[in-house]
Amino acid sequence: MKGLRRFLANLSIRSKLILIITGISLIVLFGLFGVFVMTQRSLLREALLQEVQILAQDLSRNCSAALVFDDRLAADAILAHLKSKPQVVSGAIVTAEGELFASYRRQVAAELPQAVLASRSHGAEARFFSSFLEVSQRINFNEEQIGTLHICASLKKIHQVLLRYVLFGLAGLAGAGLLAWLLAWRLQRLISGPIEILAETMLTVSAERDYSRRVAMVRSDELGTLVENFNEMLNQIEMRDSELQEKQERLNYLAYHDPLTGLANRLLFDDRLQHALDNAQRLGNKVALFFIDLDRFKNINDSLGHKTGDSVLKEVATRLAACIRAGDTLARLGGDEFVVISEQAESCQAISSLAEKIRQVLNSSVRMGSQDFFVSGSIGISVFPEDGETVESLMQCADVAMYQAKENGGNNYQFFTPGMTDRAQETLLMESKLRKALDNKELLLHYQPQVDMTSGGIIGMEALLRWQHPVLGLVSPGKFIPLAEETGLIISIGKWVIREACKQAVLWQQAGYPAWSMAVNISPKQFWQADLLDAVEKALAESGLDPALLELEITESAIMQDAEKAIETMRRIRELGIKLAIDDFGTGYSALSGLQRFPLSKLKIDRSFTHDILAGEDRGAIAEGIMALARTLKLDVIAEGVEEVEQVEFLLAKGCRLGQGFHLGRPMPPEGLADYYLNKMAGCDLAYAASHPSYAGSQ
Ligand code: C2E
Ligand code: MG
Ligand code: MG
Repeated sequence: MKGLRRFLANLSIRSKLILIITGISLIVLFGLFGVFVMTQRSLLREALLQEVQILAQDLSRNCSAALVFDDRLAADAILAHLKSKPQVVSGAIVTAEGELFASYRRQVAAELPQAVLASRSHGAEARFFSSFLEVSQRINFNEEQIGTLHICASLKKIHQVLLRYVLFGLAGLAGAGLLAWLLAWRLQRLISGPIEILAETMLTVSAERDYSRRVAMVRSDELGTLVENFNEMLNQIEMRDSELQEKQERLNYLAYHDPLTGLANRLLFDDRLQHALDNAQRLGNKVALFFIDLDRFKNINDSLGHKTGDSVLKEVATRLAACIRAGDTLARLGGDEFVVISEQAESCQAISSLAEKIRQVLNSSVRMGSQDFFVSGSIGISVFPEDGETVESLMQCADVAMYQAKENGGNNYQFFTPGMTDRAQETLLMESKLRKALDNKELLLHYQPQVDMTSGGIIGMEALLRWQHPVLGLVSPGKFIPLAEETGLIISIGKWVIREACKQAVLWQQAGYPAWSMAVNISPKQFWQADLLDAVEKALAESGLDPALLELEITESAIMQDAEKAIETMRRIRELGIKLAIDDFGTGYSALSGLQRFPLSKLKIDRSFTHDILAGEDRGAIAEGIMALARTLKLDVIAEGVEEVEQVEFLLAKGCRLGQGFHLGRPMPPEGLADYYLNKMAGCDLAYAASHPSYAGSQ
């Protein structure tokens, strides 16, 4: 049964439908035919029974006299009538005592059926045997039974008729079955046809992943709905597929391109360079790599905002793309760093001329709205195979060469030379040493007095950072502060400087010196730290220094990065009671007109302008201008780099009372103050520095 069920389940819908239709038709026809045959059988039997019963009744009436008179001949003659009934095969008259009185037997039937002879009964009854019918009829005389007449009729004729029916019927059934099969075969196509088309389309769609296919069939039945829904499902899959494909393409694009400029990104660049190197290796060619970094781009970005910065980068990308040759690769690695791979670098001259072309296209103004910006780039060049044979090594060399171009003042190109690596490594080494400097307590502060030049009295000190390295010796801030700024180390170093300077100021007060102000330099990165104020407040709280005695020195370029935000920070610093000075004033790009917006306390005239008092063409005109500006803005002014007595005289004559410089006092370690102070009190302060050569190295 299970096997049959599995067999049926595995059949195709078409076969199932044919089987079901034909099967049902045959079962119905067979059933009907069975009913017909059975009905015919009972009708034929009924007719025979009636006929034999009438015959038996007639004969029984006639033979009662023969029995009464024991006339066996008469009885035989009566029974001989049975001859005329072909279906009757025998007849018998039996006395009441059960003795056979007379009998008739047709020639063909040699014997009476056993059943009839064996069960001679005395009642009137009829019994069907498998091939005979026996009818028994009472023989009465004066209403008393004197015997029984038995007649046996053959059923053979009936059976023959029925057999004929069955044979005809079976032939008819076979024909009907064939017809049913033919009809089923034709009809099933109405159902299985569309299903087969659907299944075929599904198979093709899934095999070829072609979701544009549709089933072309219009029907209003359930199959029509199925087809409609199937097509709708394909519509949706096709839509989703094309959306996915679009997204995938976009993702692929983004994975390999810089979204701002549309140029290749680092991933694609690495791949292209590797490809170029493989080709060059095979063909024995040269490949030149140009590493381009824009000069002072950070300034544009910081002071004019990222939007302007982005526009400049886009303009640069367009210019670079226009100057490279077809087949060269241009990529943006991030920030203001661009790279060009030139696979047609036949000679050093060709490389130089492309580098010069790049330099020139960069070195012209970019117009943004109503403003013109001057852009320029530093270009480092490395060449395969001389400088390196791998992507990494060539990149490193080009990077180092680019830094050299930067150090040379920007707006130039440099070919990589092995000596450059030593310098780059030196910087790297320096960086790792600087990282340890704070932990190893190698940093210290020197202090330079700020003097009231009218009286010669000290009004304050400026804390100047020093790095006492066990091997390198005393490293000047000019060497390591840019590095600290670049690496972010300035943040932690700067916090330490503020804490240390405040502590020292209080120590001097405790030692009995006057309450001098303490000037601390704040680097641009430090100024923009969100926790600058916290750090300053903490240092003040820890040391107990009066905030009015603390002065923070910031540079013009730092506050010009975002003037509004800078004003806010400065206002909060001033609210704490702390003073604010602009260091190296006059060297930045700031528009002097906007200066009154900044909550400042002091301007520090840069030492180059103090120097000009003695030697410059304008003979101190700029210093004088700064003094006038300070007066107008009601700010204090102090001149840096006072080295000669003539400068003191000039400054005093022009109304600048405050000064700082070697002539007034060199930067010194805190322990040196006692000597310096005593000498100053003794009136020989101006000669102090000259007589203390040990301080010469500390500036
Ligand atoms: P600055 O703030 O303008 O400091 C004055 C610089 O001029 C000091 O150099 C000082 O030694 C030098 N100087 C003083 N008087 C004279 C003079 O008469 N003639 C000449 N030629 N130079 C004089 P120093 O100490 O080497 O510092 C250089 C710069 O490093 C400082 O310039 C300041 O910008 C920065 N710096 C120093 N200490 C720190 C610090 O703690 N934090 C930060 N962020 N920067 C610092
Ligand atoms: Mg300073
Ligand atoms: Mg200065």
